[in-house]
Amino acid sequence: MTDKHQQHIIFGFIIVFIIVVIISINVISKIQEERPYIYHGKDAPIPTELNPIVNERKDTLIQKAANKNISVVITEGIRSFKKQDELYQQGRTTKGNIVTNTKAGESYHNYGLAFDYALLDSKGNIIWDTSYDGNGNGKSDWFEVAEIGKKLGFDWGGDWISFKDYPHLQMTFGISIEMLKKGYRINDKVVKSNSTHYNSVQFFSYSEYSH
Ligand SMILES: [Zn+2]
Repeated sequence: MTDKHQQHIIFGFIIVFIIVVIISINVISKIQEERPYIYHGKDAPIPTELNPIVNERKDTLIQKAANKNISVVITEGIRSFKKQDELYQQGRTTKGNIVTNTKAGESYHNYGLAFDYALLDSKGNIIWDTSYDGNGNGKSDWFEVAEIGKKLGFDWGGDWISFKDYPHLQMTFGISIEMLKKGYRINDKVVKSNSTHYNSVQFFSYSEYSH
């Protein structure tokens, strides 16, 4: 083989290599764009309000419940790490009963991906009774709301096996608490443009994530 031939072969390899690199970069960035979450680094900012899609579907839930003559009240939305820590300390280092096993940063509430609901009666009194049937259709209003929530893509705490959390609805978009702690955040652009339901059931077991 002549030197010229070898040069041609090497040159050819270099060209092919460059093309492969360019294609790979494009494919990888495309995949990342389409994922429902993005990595923001370990110092990723903690959201300060409910995720916009969660908020939108919360409003839809309230509307759909109202159409069935059920008045829903949101008792808690986003919960700061500080508040979560205070709740965790309650019954452990501070007075009161233990109300949660979840530490700061380990609840979907801490990232604006969960909220809690209760009901209101016709006089505006808050109802915590899950068997209450205010619209008189023979079904528990509380469970009717849970069903609406699940159809909208929420996981409902009443379905958890280890610890039933009846007021709790969360939307995880397939992102685990571990990922959130590492600095992954919801890719709002992708989840907004996609109308399908995001239910974490298909991605991982949700029963371990309570309140
Ligand atoms: Zn909750």
